[in-house]
Amino acid sequence: MDCIFCRIAAGEIPSTKIFEDDQVLAFYDASPQAPVHFLVIPKTHIGSVQEVDAGNSGMIAHIFEVIAGIARQLDLDNGYRVVTNVGDDGGQTVGHLHFHVLAKRKLAWPPG
Ligand code: 5GP
Ligand code: ZN
Repeated sequence: MDCIFCRIAAGEIPSTKIFEDDQVLAFYDASPQAPVHFLVIPKTHIGSVQEVDAGNSGMIAHIFEVIAGIARQLDLDNGYRVVTNVGDDGGQTVGHLHFHVLAKRKLAWPPG
């Protein structure tokens, strides 16, 4: 398996997890671009939004439910951004669907 996010989902590469269920994993971005920056991925390999279809779109809805739940858990009451990059021209660097969640608010954790 040469997909880094499949390996993170499988626990082969460590990550700082925020939430996990049978379908999805949320973990902090290793190179945060905002005071709060985490990623939400499906555990199954989907390359990008361009591979979303009728067979897996329920997963996408679930991801947004998970994002809303984490935002409540982290008290992101003042809002946040959800971003997904698609392909080279969209700036995608990891070829496994992921949603960036970013917020300006400073949290006590993670430190730094
Ligand atoms: P993209 O540029 O594909 O939209 O976003 C990929 C994101 O994955 C980047 O923000 C990058 O910092 C993050 N990332 C890449 N490799 C790892 C890793 O091994 N662990 C974690 N936690 N984040 C990673
Ligand atoms: Zn993958």
